Amino acid sequence: MTELIRQSLVAYGTPLCETIAECPEPRGTEVLVRIERCGVCHSDLHVQDGYFKLGGDKTLDITKGRTLPFTLGHEIAGVVERAGPDAGETKAGARVAVYPWIGCGRCVACRHGEENNCAASRHLGINLDGGYASHVLVPHPRYLIDYAPLSASFAGALMCSGLTAYAALQRLADRADRGPVLLIGLGGVGSMGFALARALFGAAPLVADIDAAKREAALAAGAAGAFDPSDPGARKAVLSASAGGVYAVADFVGSDSSLAFATGVLARGGKVVVTGLLGGGFSTAVAMFPIKAMTIEGTLTGTLAQAREVIALARSGKIAPIPIHERPMRDAQAALDDLRAGKVTGRVVLTS
Ligand SMILES: [Zn+2]
Ligand SMILES: [Zn+2]
Repeated sequence: MTELIRQSLVAYGTPLCETIAECPEPRGTEVLVRIERCGVCHSDLHVQDGYFKLGGDKTLDITKGRTLPFTLGHEIAGVVERAGPDAGETKAGARVAVYPWIGCGRCVACRHGEENNCAASRHLGINLDGGYASHVLVPHPRYLIDYAPLSASFAGALMCSGLTAYAALQRLADRADRGPVLLIGLGGVGSMGFALARALFGAAPLVADIDAAKREAALAAGAAGAFDPSDPGARKAVLSASAGGVYAVADFVGSDSSLAFATGVLARGGKVVVTGLLGGGFSTAVAMFPIKAMTIEGTLTGTLAQAREVIALARSGKIAPIPIHERPMRDAQAALDDLRAGKVTGRVVLTS
């Protein structure tokens, strides 16, 4: 018997604790992957809490459709251990990144290739047991992506923070030739966005973050300008750095203040893509939509096709690796605590 060792969520709002179960045997098309690396993502904090903040005192309950104990973690890279009889030519020993945003395969979104937007999702680490464990069961080999010669840590991180940033920037691509894009928030997704923006658009982005150290690091890495959104002069400074307004903004924070800042610096005809989930409310005069010809879109992670694209882009050497800090799997709770306390730059990745 193989042991399945997990850092489990046993009750919402409480620390993870280690649980041991029998490792599941892959059936049908399932593939059992032994985990080498699993990134720690900000959304893991929301799952642990069991809710999202919506603004004011309002929260969105996200405890439904999940049985406890539950295994968080969706930035997974590992080694194929065993596959079910219908999993085709899946080779034991293959090193793979795992696309976690798995859908039902039948709903409209899934049939259009958007499993990340599935109405009955089976997202690993969100609905199905994920990667803070020794093994994960993947429903089908099509979700496994070769990543050599990248590091396992980087490949795992590409499955959420990298994919999310990539999907957001793709939605801004039609405006990226009008001037520098603005990236708000240089956390895990934002630092991936920064690395990807140059590869995709060939021009250095503007960045905004309330953390001076993150702004300085971005400038040292070639940002075209860095702004502190909490500075009352920041809006004017962005407008002058962008010849009157920005056409493409990625809001990797997703709070009332970040979205207010994003829309405040938009040029007429500009677009904001929101990926962040920090929380808060947003209101604006409805007339601002036509007057500014403004678009505000959201995207939640990305499709399987986009995951393959972002891995291919990284394999081609076009993305500078993000700072990665590896910690042992048993430190999962400590890593979450540090993330919650804002003590993390780049990505924390748990190692088996
Ligand atoms: Zn994530
Ligand atoms: Zn579906």
